[in-house]
Amino acid sequence: MSNKIARVLVAAAAAGCLGCAPVYLSRPGGRGVVLVRVALRHNAPEVRLAGDGARIADAGHGATLAPGESWTVTAAGGGLRAVTGRGTEIGAISGPLRAWAAGGVEVEGRRVAAAVELRPEAGGGVLVIAELPLEQYVAGVVAAELGMAKPDEIEAAKAQAVASRSYACATLGSRPGAGYDLEATVAHQAFDPGKPVGATAARAARETEGLVLTRGGSVFAANYHSTCGGRTALASEAWNADDRKFPHIASVRDGHCGVSPRFSWADTIAATDISLRLFGANAEIRDVDVAQRGPSGRAVALRISSPAADTTLHKDKIRFGLASRPLPSTLFDLQCLRDESGNVGAVALKGFGYGHGVGMCQWGAIGMARAGKSYVRILKHYYRDVRIETLR
Ligand SMILES: [Zn+2]
Repeated sequence: MSNKIARVLVAAAAAGCLGCAPVYLSRPGGRGVVLVRVALRHNAPEVRLAGDGARIADAGHGATLAPGESWTVTAAGGGLRAVTGRGTEIGAISGPLRAWAAGGVEVEGRRVAAAVELRPEAGGGVLVIAELPLEQYVAGVVAAELGMAKPDEIEAAKAQAVASRSYACATLGSRPGAGYDLEATVAHQAFDPGKPVGATAARAARETEGLVLTRGGSVFAANYHSTCGGRTALASEAWNADDRKFPHIASVRDGHCGVSPRFSWADTIAATDISLRLFGANAEIRDVDVAQRGPSGRAVALRISSPAADTTLHKDKIRFGLASRPLPSTLFDLQCLRDESGNVGAVALKGFGYGHGVGMCQWGAIGMARAGKSYVRILKHYYRDVRIETLR
């Protein structure tokens, strides 16, 4: 990863004032604990902080929370304001508000194993950011992404840990000014610091500590998904992406994800759902057909014809834009069910897989692990011409 963007925990300085806040600095070329900043919640109307002995500080003041005490923080006038549980007005807060405690801080009644930072957000609410060491974050992502993995799935959990660490490191510093690096959702990586990390996830992070995927000497954002359904996708099949910028991604066959509960699927979508979604009105639908497929067989262009207008959905817009509920995948065949007038009354879909299909297939990884394959073998199956290296 780029050390220029690594934030490093340098010191917890003298106690008794704001100075006891951990100090986080950019340290080009340095070594240390890499910290990641994860957006837990956007535009919260208010956020209640608590925790016995928790320290709270803004740019000019610090306080220690007594047992049972809490602060309720809201956004106002472009900044933050807070009121204590006893009703004492703290007033305007200078800059972001940070809270931390050895045992974690309570945010809205849930204990978060991280330092917490609150900022006003453009939408008028409060942005909640968790800041924590990379390795702790990786263990949390493995737990959230794979659930409670079984002991015979440890190699899949280790592959997930390396992929998630790579994704995080390649994403650090990518949104300057936002105050955080990653979303705590599948938009980036699922993560919940309020949930305990199971033994398998913790072991997976520990046994792969510092290991990342590289290609051409650079860490890359290792994409992954739930279930490919038999073949993984090129990035250009899922997104408006140039495959030359994803040299680590290939479309590979996968004979191991049949163990996924989401390996195959079927759905029938009413034409009224499609027309309301696409045309904003209950228009007749004359035809729905796959106009183009990608190398993995996924639909990359879906044409919808109506007397009012024709439209074509592409790539992930097919999954999320066709109907009121998303499609599990774009690896499907479809059949138009027509009414007596010849118009489409509904569309019957039969498909495979769940997710965008790019990169590592999580259920394929589980299948490979159960078959005795190592995490290195798993990663090298799904990512092309990559190395597994230690973060420097
Ligand atoms: Zn698969």
